[in-house]
Amino acid sequence: MTDAIRPQPGILDIALYQGGKAHVAGVQNAVKLSSNENPFGPSDKSKEAFSRTVHSLHRYPGTDHADLRAAIAEVHRLDADRIICGVGSDEIITFLCQAYAGPKDEVVFTEHGFLMYRISALAVGATPVEVVERERTTDVDAILAACNRRTRLVFIANPNNPTGTMISMAEVERLAAGLPKQAILVLDGAYAEYVDGYDGGAALIETRSNVFMTRTFSKIYGLGGLRIGWGYGPRAIVDVLNRIRGPFNLSTTQLETAEAAVRDQDFVAKCRSENARMRHWLSEALAELGVPSDTSMANFVLARFASEDEAGACDAFLQEQGLIVRRVSSYKLPHCLRITIGDEAACRRVAHAVAQFKGVK
Ligand code: PMP
Repeated sequence: MTDAIRPQPGILDIALYQGGKAHVAGVQNAVKLSSNENPFGPSDKSKEAFSRTVHSLHRYPGTDHADLRAAIAEVHRLDADRIICGVGSDEIITFLCQAYAGPKDEVVFTEHGFLMYRISALAVGATPVEVVERERTTDVDAILAACNRRTRLVFIANPNNPTGTMISMAEVERLAAGLPKQAILVLDGAYAEYVDGYDGGAALIETRSNVFMTRTFSKIYGLGGLRIGWGYGPRAIVDVLNRIRGPFNLSTTQLETAEAAVRDQDFVAKCRSENARMRHWLSEALAELGVPSDTSMANFVLARFASEDEAGACDAFLQEQGLIVRRVSSYKLPHCLRITIGDEAACRRVAHAVAQFKGVK
């Protein structure tokens, strides 16, 4: 790269995102538990909708996503005009940073927070501010102490990835109420559907003009490969984000598949209860083997080992057994492995392999 041709400040500070591994060399049919995907895949109804779109691929998609927004609004009892859809919730996070942060501004998130917050902040020249957590849980007081006149966005995932922990709505409300007036609180609800009865912060948004929520079809809907997410918030913020959204950011296939998916809440309920059952089973099984985890509200557990070396050795052993889990060193948790809750057979294989690793018969 010559000195004359250089990217905007901040861009070269971005570390390339390392996704979850999908394969292990020499192992056939490895079970992938590294990206918090739904082991049951998408619902049959969404797959049927996906297939039907083959007949309209020559047409441009609609630009206003009206049908998908209407379906989301109906299911979640929201105002369709205040929903925005994007290429995964990643794109909504990107829009928020593009629209509200720039050089000299600060974007706040937690030390074990999702990596995309840092990437999107640096990409717009803003300064990422990482706040320590308390026992791997979001610390509202620490976030409030980190905010100042330059803070424009505060991202928290609730439940959080990769810790799986969650803070109460009362704590979220306290955070929203305590922020400086120019800052937006973004509640990332990528895992919200795994929490029975949780609205991701939708009710709070009705009472506050500084709260925005992001959601995704990548997790419980089993559509990570298709890249669809959405956001909900005050009309003024949604209006701003729509101005920078490309008119054709979502394809017909994305839109129609997501619409069928959101209308199939029986599938969502089934996945939620099966996830809760196996999450409980796996965390108990691991704890009995001396591998504790915090109470997870999401579709993964964060297994804690005695040391970074032990976590690395267990990761390597699991790979030899055809089980791919996630090292979370880039989330400052080098002694932990994040294990997605697979189906029952996968969870039993993980527990069996960890027992072998620990030398327990
Ligand atoms: N937020 C959190 C907390 C996540 O874990 C993820 C996915 N790993 C996302 C957002 C982005 O999801 P997507 O872009 O697939 O909607």
